[in-house]
Amino acid sequence: MNLQSPSTAERPISLQSARTRVILVVLLILAGLLASVWLAGRAAERRQWAERTVEARGQLELYAQSLRILVERYRSIPAIIALDGEVQAVLRAGPDLLRRQQLNHRLQRLSLEAGAAMVYVLDSEGTAIASSNWDEPTSFIGRNYAFRPYFRDAMRTGGGRYFAVGVTTGVPGYFLAQVVRDLDGSPLGVVVLKLEMEELQRDWAGQPGILLVTDRYGIVQLASRPAWRFRYLQPLGPQLRAELLSARKYAEQTLQPLDVQVLETLEGGDLLRIAGPDGRHDYLSLRQPLVEDGWTLQLLHEARAPDGTSRSYRLAAAGAWLALVFLLLFLAQREKNRRLLQRSRVELERLVDERTAELRQAQDELVQAAKMAALGQMSAALAHEINQPLTAMRMQLGSLGLLLAKGDGAAVQTCLARLDGLLTRMAALTGHLKTFARNSPGGLRERLQPDSVVDHALLLLEPRIRQDDVLVLRRRAADAWVEGDAIRLEQVLVNLLHNALDAMLGKDVRELRIDLQRAGDDWLLEVGDSGGGIAAEDLPRVFEPFFTTKPVGEGLGLGLAVSYGIVRELGGLLEVHNDRDGAVFRIRLPAAAAPVTLRAGAQE
Ligand code: ADP
Repeated sequence: MNLQSPSTAERPISLQSARTRVILVVLLILAGLLASVWLAGRAAERRQWAERTVEARGQLELYAQSLRILVERYRSIPAIIALDGEVQAVLRAGPDLLRRQQLNHRLQRLSLEAGAAMVYVLDSEGTAIASSNWDEPTSFIGRNYAFRPYFRDAMRTGGGRYFAVGVTTGVPGYFLAQVVRDLDGSPLGVVVLKLEMEELQRDWAGQPGILLVTDRYGIVQLASRPAWRFRYLQPLGPQLRAELLSARKYAEQTLQPLDVQVLETLEGGDLLRIAGPDGRHDYLSLRQPLVEDGWTLQLLHEARAPDGTSRSYRLAAAGAWLALVFLLLFLAQREKNRRLLQRSRVELERLVDERTAELRQAQDELVQAAKMAALGQMSAALAHEINQPLTAMRMQLGSLGLLLAKGDGAAVQTCLARLDGLLTRMAALTGHLKTFARNSPGGLRERLQPDSVVDHALLLLEPRIRQDDVLVLRRRAADAWVEGDAIRLEQVLVNLLHNALDAMLGKDVRELRIDLQRAGDDWLLEVGDSGGGIAAEDLPRVFEPFFTTKPVGEGLGLGLAVSYGIVRELGGLLEVHNDRDGAVFRIRLPAAAAPVTLRAGAQE
């Protein structure tokens, strides 16, 4: 037989789903953590790049400026030389060795004074006829430079500029060319000034970063690090390569590519990965076009791994994220606790209400049971008590007949009065019995006088008191008022009186003391007897339910327990102690104000 209950079959599923949920939440938190760390790192990096870009931009401006100043300084020199009559004359004169030699000397002096690298004159065919380096092994004289664009440009437009590596010297430089015109305006030749920028490069070498000057083809013409020179940043088509070689621009140098990969385009710059002569590195790259000639100045700064700032950004983001998560968890837990607390409070209240109702019912039942027990005890005495007046009445009725026959009116009156008295007594007795037996709902709060409650209780027990020949000593207090349920208080008193009478049975002295007096805010109603008191070991137990020292059938042990409960319910206290000759039960009740009576008004 399959005994598996549905609950055991369901539990693994709910457990599993709870675990899945926990895993999901943990994954979400981790994902959030990673995302926030990554984003913070990115933000920090971007900030750093932006800062460094601004720095590098300033540096680049300075380089561009120094380059521009250098070129500007020499720009006018070829133009001035081109206007020189001697130069024009030499060009016009054709091969005149002496004049050419004189020009050589002049050019040499000029170049020395101007600080330019080289100054030379080409004829209309592009052949150098005079040069400042005439006396050096790399002298230009006799060489033809017609293939150089600066020559062609100058012949065609009047001026030309060109960056190139000297075919003769192998030294790169900037060539400034100016046409020399005859008087009729026809071109006689070209004056060329070559600027060698080796010195500038050397100055740059000490600066941070790598500075490159690239031409319009992306070929590095100048570099602060020599190894980077003549490498190209953009792919060169085969046609362009051939062209460059035909112009012999890069004479002996072999053009080598730089493997450039754009990692990221930043604001004002790029993040490049370049496999350069120093190996593969990431660089922050900034470019600045040098307006003329399609040259570009490019500054590369090695992109260092994110430094401490971005690490602390990441840590801060992780911290903030974790704090947020913990805060949310804390709030969720608190909400859960609050709901749990509320639920358990509601449950507790419900339980308390339930138990209170149960207790009240049990108490009511006990009160009733005790009452019935008291009634049972009283019934024998009551039967006797009612029997007595009945016998007396029968006798009175008998004598009444005789008296009527005698016509003794006065005696008949006395007899009738006696009969009336007997009937009134019986009526009062039965009336009280009825009240006593009634099941009071309890909790009634009326203004009442303890004295009158005592009166009623004594009336109920009067036959017994008389029968046992008990002396009753009372101290009344007419101004005593308390609040409560008269029937229940009477029940308490009947219990106490009953016990007192029981205790005094067979004693020589039988004195019942009922004492009512004020003590602070309370009224103390004491019932004392001369029954010898309660044994010391029994004293703490007399209020326990079912505690009795009486023979079976006579005592239930409920009277005092019920009485205790009733007095507590009235807001009072029931205490016991032993007196000189017996037990004293004290009912302590809070005093209440006397009701306003009409009599008070009538006194005025
Ligand atoms: P019961 O009267 O049915 O025994 P009670 O609760 O009224 O139940 O009383 C409990 C016990 O307390 C009595 O059996 C008796 O031993 C003791 N007791 C109560 N009142 C007195 C008293 N006035 N003097 C001596 N003993 C008393």
